Amino acid sequence: MQPFTRRRFTTSLLAGAGALGVAGLLPSLGRARTLVIGGGPAGAMAALRLRHRDPAAEVLLIERDPTRLGGSAPGAFGQPGAGVTLHELDAAGVGVLLDEAAAIDWRSARLELFSGRRMAFDRVMLAPGTAAVDEGLPGLDATARHRWPAAWGSAREAQRLAAQLGALSERGHVVLRLPREISHPEVALDRALVLAAWLRRARPDARLTVLDGSDTGALAERFHAATARRGGWIEATWQRAQVTGVDAESGRIDTDAGRLRADVVNFVTPRSAGPLARIAGLTDGSGWCPCDAAGRSLQRADAVILGDARKGARRTLEGATPGPGGSV
Ligand SMILES: Cc1cc2nc3c(=O)[nH]c(=O)nc-3n(C[C@H](O)[C@H](O)[C@H](O)COP(=O)(O)OP(=O)(O)OC[C@H]3O[C@@H](n4cnc5c(N)ncnc54)[C@H](O)[C@@H]3O)c2cc1C
Repeated sequence: MQPFTRRRFTTSLLAGAGALGVAGLLPSLGRARTLVIGGGPAGAMAALRLRHRDPAAEVLLIERDPTRLGGSAPGAFGQPGAGVTLHELDAAGVGVLLDEAAAIDWRSARLELFSGRRMAFDRVMLAPGTAAVDEGLPGLDATARHRWPAAWGSAREAQRLAAQLGALSERGHVVLRLPREISHPEVALDRALVLAAWLRRARPDARLTVLDGSDTGALAERFHAATARRGGWIEATWQRAQVTGVDAESGRIDTDAGRLRADVVNFVTPRSAGPLARIAGLTDGSGWCPCDAAGRSLQRADAVILGDARKGARRTLEGATPGPGGSV
């Protein structure tokens, strides 16, 4: 794999900008007043609303992933897009910058970007979404995470999981692992149902096991109710268990309820707020950003947190983009 240098990063961003036709949207740096970091549904919608409320406001949306605002439909295991197109942002006068926010210097009110630039702001809003947390599980190294994709917000992992399912043998065994703290419970339930539906259609003799590390049986009940309503599906076991170690090469999963082997594993890991929130001092011990109902950070009164990164957020599209009466 090629090393990921700053030069390569900037080059690939500019290539992405060109592919999306947004190079002309790049504003002159240093002029932005309100910076919105993160072009998912929460950040993109907030940027749009800021301009609708005050057409004279200078609003710059910073997103590191050139595909996020591209408007393509998510695949089977994908995360929905921003729901706001580049065209809409452009028409509303929102500037879009493809770069990664690396740090915030609150004292001088400047944002540092991965490309090396620094940018002054009067106001900053963070919508960095979530990122995987390293559980320190024995055997769950980078190779294992590659073999057993979480497919939890990464389009590449979603494609890899779909390809692995496509290669599953007729009587294969698929395991969906859910951690104790599930960042998106609705998505977890949906994932189990999507896997079960896919197996019923494509591999009716295969098995599905859900290893559920959560403290309640709520998702299990809803899963069984949903499958029963549809006339009983493939052989599916929902097991409450904590994973204690793995060997991805042989397909072995050790749990506090015993050992099992799998052919395809969708290994979902716990999440916390995106790393920028921690770097900027906006998270607490839970890894999430405590804030009031209006999104004002309880760690720093001058920061606003939007979307999934908020502590206690519902972490659905609706929860990430409150109605027109919302705080932004
Ligand atoms: C696999 C999956 C499937 C889902 N399916 C559904 C569904 O069907 N229905 C539903 O209602 N909800 C669904 N959700 C939940 C929904 O996607 C989220 O609640 C919503 O996307 C949260 O929006 P957000 O803007 O807060 O964060 P995100 O959508 O995660 O966006 C955050 C953005 O910030 C960018 N970013 C992060 N850090 C930086 C940085 N330092 N600099 C620049 N950019 C940065 C990221 O690239 C990303 O684009 C799903 C979630 C997942 C993971």
